[in-house]
Amino acid sequence: VGLKNVYGVPGLPGIGGAADVLDGRVAAAAIKSRVAARVADLLAGGSPAPLLATILVGNDPASETYVAAKHRACEEVGLESASHVFPADVPSGEVEACIDSLNRDAAVSGILLQLPLPDHLDARGLIELIDPRKDVDGLTAINAGRLAHGSAALVPCTPKGIVALLDHYDVELRGRRAVVVGRSDLVGKPVATLLTQRDATVTLCHSRTRAFQEECRRAEVLVVAAGRPGLVDERHVGWGAVVVDVGIHRGADGLVGDVDAGAVSRRAKAISPVPGGVGPMTIASLLENTMLAAA
Ligand code: NAP
Repeated sequence: VGLKNVYGVPGLPGIGGAADVLDGRVAAAAIKSRVAARVADLLAGGSPAPLLATILVGNDPASETYVAAKHRACEEVGLESASHVFPADVPSGEVEACIDSLNRDAAVSGILLQLPLPDHLDARGLIELIDPRKDVDGLTAINAGRLAHGSAALVPCTPKGIVALLDHYDVELRGRRAVVVGRSDLVGKPVATLLTQRDATVTLCHSRTRAFQEECRRAEVLVVAAGRPGLVDERHVGWGAVVVDVGIHRGADGLVGDVDAGAVSRRAKAISPVPGGVGPMTIASLLENTMLAAA
């Protein structure tokens, strides 16, 4: 699907209004088939399939759903996966020992520690125990530093997926005014870095940003990762902007994002839906990172 669809020529289904849909399921399928082909090549050459190990602590339903989806996606493309599940009150030492043994296990290509963790665990400390070569979420200080230098192999999955989604639909980034809402280590900061590396002119907004609406409205590409349902509506979006909605919230009517999609789609050129936008791209990026970590 090319530029002509995003830029207003009929081709993609709209969300309520006129905007085209940046369909993450379609873009993720393209990535998954590339990963599946590479796994098949490895197996044909007599090498084992790369293995993703996940660590899940507690029984947060959203985390359980995400981890299950990651294992299913591995299976779809022929990657191996193994899950390590701990009760919510697990002593930190047990999780540390698990990470240590996965670091030393040559059969394990990638390690994913599902966040958030229960309060008694130090997420930052545990992430730093992951061997940076197996850090498929790209969250260790080493990989975050490499990303800042522009030399990262393992880039955080959601930001990587957001840029891949924009690329899939041929959204021009060079020279464009991009606004990122949210400055988390997981999404906002790394996506701002990636967009800067792609020659966008990036503004990073957060909860202390003054004239928030005006800042957003200047965006040609608006990425919203605030974790606030419906925070961005038509007042925040300029005519013809491309909007990526990263937020995920479980409401009475199912999943919704940080963007009021119905209202915004009357102004935007294109918008990523929730569900079916950034979520599938995050998982596809995780599969790619697992391949990269195995190389
Ligand atoms: P987070 O760590 O809570 O960060 C939220 C950021 O948004 C913070 O920087 C915060 O500013 C900013 N913010 C909050 N309220 C704001 C407001 N009213 N105006 C402007 N900025 C505001 O969240 P996160 O981990 O980045 O995740 C963000 C959302 O994306 C969540 O809904 C999460 O579920 C979703 N998510 C989706 C995927 C996916 O695969 N689709 C992956 C990861 C996350 P301050 O720094 O000033 O507090």
